[in-house]
Amino acid sequence: MSFYQKTIHELHEFLIRKEISAQELCAQVYKRIEEVENQIKALVLIVDQNKAMEEAQKVDARIAAGETISPLTGIPMVLKDNICTKDIKTTCSSRILAEFRPPYDAHVVEKLAQAGAVLCGKTNMDEFAMGSSTENSGYFSTKNPWDLNRVPGGSSGGSAAAIAADESVFSLGSDTGGSIRQPSSFCGTVGLKPTYGLVSRYGLIAYASSLDQIGPITKDVMDAALVLKAIAGHDKKDSTSSTMSVPDYPAALTGEMRGLRVGVPREYFGPGLGLRSEGMCGKSHQDDGKYGAQVAEDMPHTEYALPAYYLIASAEASSNLARFDGVRYGFRAQEGEDVVSMFQKTRSFGFGKEVKRRIMLGTYALSSGYYDAYYLKALKVRTLVKQDFDRAFEKFDLLAAPTASHLAFRHGEKADNPLAMYLSDVLTIPINLAGVPAISVPCGFVRDLPVGLQLIGKPFGEETLLQASFAYEKAAGWGNLKPNLKGVTVK
Ligand code: GLN
Repeated sequence: MSFYQKTIHELHEFLIRKEISAQELCAQVYKRIEEVENQIKALVLIVDQNKAMEEAQKVDARIAAGETISPLTGIPMVLKDNICTKDIKTTCSSRILAEFRPPYDAHVVEKLAQAGAVLCGKTNMDEFAMGSSTENSGYFSTKNPWDLNRVPGGSSGGSAAAIAADESVFSLGSDTGGSIRQPSSFCGTVGLKPTYGLVSRYGLIAYASSLDQIGPITKDVMDAALVLKAIAGHDKKDSTSSTMSVPDYPAALTGEMRGLRVGVPREYFGPGLGLRSEGMCGKSHQDDGKYGAQVAEDMPHTEYALPAYYLIASAEASSNLARFDGVRYGFRAQEGEDVVSMFQKTRSFGFGKEVKRRIMLGTYALSSGYYDAYYLKALKVRTLVKQDFDRAFEKFDLLAAPTASHLAFRHGEKADNPLAMYLSDVLTIPINLAGVPAISVPCGFVRDLPVGLQLIGKPFGEETLLQASFAYEKAAGWGNLKPNLKGVTVK
C-alpha cells in the first residue's frame, strides 16, 4: 500500500520514525491527484504544489530539529469549498462566488494550520451545500470512486470522493441535513457530524445557520477522532460555539463497548423507505453478543422531520443568501438601469436552479400570512423531533440506524426530481433538527457499493459515539476500504 493510501495515525508513526518525510508524502498525494482527478472530479481547486511543499518542508525541519509534532502535522488535507481559506478561492461551487478570495481563514482552518496539516485542495459540492448528489455544483459533477456512473452523494460529495479515491488523507465537510454522513455512506468513508456548537462555524459560508456543522471525513474512526480533537472547541467569534472543554477523543477508543445501551429507532426501518441497506444494518444490530444489547425504540415524529427541515433550512437560506447581491461579494452582473436591476441580474445569473428554488420556498414560508402556517409550525415540529431524541436517550447511550435509505444512485437518476432528491436525507435530517451528533461508519457492501451504518449520540456525546464506532469498525473489519479505480493501478 502506498503512503497516500494510509490513515493519519499510520502516517504520523511513519513521520516520527522518519520512514517518510512530509515532503515525500505531499508529493505522493499530488501525484495521486494527477493520476485520478480527471476521472473523479472531486476538486474545484488544487493548491499550488510548490506552496504545499513549502509547508511540508517546514514540517520536515521541525521533525529534524527533534520537535514533538501533533498527529496532524504534515498530513495532507482537502476542504469543502464553503470553508473560507484566506486568499484562496472559496466558491461554494457557485457562479456567484467564482472569484471570491476570502480575506480571512475559517476558525477550523486556523486550527488545522496550527496543528500543521497541509492544505492541498478545495472540494466540489452542491452549490451552497443544497443537494444530495453534488450534481447541483455550478461547475461539474463528481464521480463515485466505487462506480464512476454513480453519484458520490452530497452535498460534501467532493470531500468524500477525494478520500475514497485517496486524493487526500482526510477532508472536512459540512452537514446541514446529512451532507457529511450520506456521502460517506455512498463512498465508504467515515463521516462525523458533531453536536451543534462543538465546532465553530466562523468562516463556514452559511446555508442554514441553526443546522450547519463542520466535521471530518476520514479513512477510519481513529482519524475522525484525531481531526475532531483538532477542530473542536470554543471560539468567541461564533456566538453558538460551546464553552465546554474538549475531551481527548482518541483516548476514548478502547475497542470496548460492553455495557453501552444501543437503541434502534423503529421508524428508521419502516416500509416504504426502500432500505436496501437495512439487511446490513439489521445484521449489525441483531448480533447482540458482539455489538451490545439492543432494543427497538419508538420515535413517533420522525416522519415529520423531512418537511419541517426543508421549510426551516430554506427559510434560513433565503435570509443568509440575501447578502449575495453583487455589491459586497463576488460576481456582479453588468450594471442595469438602476441598482435593483443590477441585483436581479447578478442573482439571476449567479445562482443555480436549486438555490433559487430554496430562496423562493424560504421567502414564501417567512412571508406574512404564511409564517405561522409554515415556518412557526416547522419550528414546533423541530421541538417534537428533539423530544423524541431526549426520551430515547433517557434509556439508551446510542441509537443505530442506516445512514441512507438507498445505495449511491446513478448520475441523472434524481437530478430532475427535487422531491426524490430531498427524500435522500430522510434518515439523517432528524439528527440535525435535534442538534445531536452522528457518524456514518462503513458496514459492508450491497451490489459492490458501500453502505453506511449510522450511530447517533447524546448531545456532546462524541466520546461514546467514537468509542462505539471504533469497536464496531474493529469487530466488523471494514476499516480503510479501497475502490479499484479502473485504469489506475492500486498497489
Ligand atoms: N441534502 C440536504 C439539503 O439539500 C442536506 C444538505 C446538507 O446537509 N448541506 O438541504
